[in-house]
Amino acid sequence: MPEVVAFDEIKERRTRRDMPDGHFYNTPFIDHSQEYPHGPNAFMIESSENRILDTHFHDVDQFQIVVGGGGTLGRHVLAPHAVHFSRGFTPYGPLVSGAGAGVSYVTLRARQCPTGGAQRLPAFREKLEKMTGRQPWQVTGVPQFLQPSVDGIAMNVIDGLTDDRGLAGYALSMQAGTRTVSPGMHGGDGQYLVVLKGSLIHAGEEKKGIAIIFTKPQEGPMPIIAGPQGLQGLILNFPRPIDQASLTKSSSQGSPTAAPHDQLWQCELCAFAYDEATGLPEEGIPPGTPWEAVPHDWVCPDCSATKADFSAVEL
Ligand code: FE
Repeated sequence: MPEVVAFDEIKERRTRRDMPDGHFYNTPFIDHSQEYPHGPNAFMIESSENRILDTHFHDVDQFQIVVGGGGTLGRHVLAPHAVHFSRGFTPYGPLVSGAGAGVSYVTLRARQCPTGGAQRLPAFREKLEKMTGRQPWQVTGVPQFLQPSVDGIAMNVIDGLTDDRGLAGYALSMQAGTRTVSPGMHGGDGQYLVVLKGSLIHAGEEKKGIAIIFTKPQEGPMPIIAGPQGLQGLILNFPRPIDQASLTKSSSQGSPTAAPHDQLWQCELCAFAYDEATGLPEEGIPPGTPWEAVPHDWVCPDCSATKADFSAVEL
């Protein structure tokens, strides 16, 4: 049976932590490391305004969904309901909570992170540098919730949230009382449904948003029944885990070499790539700008690493 947890049922678990730069609330939704080895784990963070969570990484793949407020992640603007996916050992940040409402987000993992909290840079940089077989990668998708069609249901793929191991995301809109089934996992590592608005009917009970449902890989697609106010939510499929053994053999670690004709420059920490051909127009760097002409104080849009942390890659 999928695990279904609604905020209303567990809100007494919500705890406040005061920090030098403000405070945040943490609400654990799902944490069953004994029952399902190594995971899953889902929680919600509500951060007060103008706080900075330094660039960091975790040991496992994770989704983070903005459920309220906004802010920035690296140089990207975060707004509801942006979905950030990061592979294990991929640094991202800093995460800055916006003025006023701050930022609230849900973190979803198919597996428990063995080290627990954030591993911040630069303190944990050496750990990344010593690893072999790391495949850092991250992507942010912005779901588009479509008007339900004649059958009362709209399920729309979230652009960009895809890889060759089964990563997928869907924006789901359902009218009251309609039924559907979640998409297949294609060998992935488990599936979350996050009910953002309205409610889900599960085992005869109404589960109002925010509700989080985790389905294990062997459980297959889950039936979804929308409550009396309809349902708006996200379905997120974890990719198959990286086979570390095969990676260590095929790893191309350390191959980049600096050469003047190189046109692709890659962040050694998070794998963001700067392509001289396309530039970064959204940051005022026009197509065709050579690496040398990128401002010296420019930083990685995803993890805020400096230019010195980039290496040239042969095309
Ligand atoms: Fe980076």
